[in-house]
Amino acid sequence: MVFKVCLNCGGTLQEFRELTAGEREHVRRYKPKHTRLAAYYRCARAGCLRFQRLGDMRDGDSFPEPDESS
Ligand SMILES: [Zn+2]
Repeated sequence: MVFKVCLNCGGTLQEFRELTAGEREHVRRYKPKHTRLAAYYRCARAGCLRFQRLGDMRDGDSFPEPDESS
């Protein structure tokens, strides 16, 4: 676990965890030229969908909302 400032959590310090395989696939599409997927972590706070790169809190985005119809 690492602690990083999460912009989706109002700029507060939050726990971040490593991406799952499915999450890495999403980041791969978001960053097709970026090969260092291991540098991306996601916010572990319940309900937060933020992922971002270690060392640059502004290099990141949010995962899509879970599809509740599936
Ligand atoms: Zn967050």
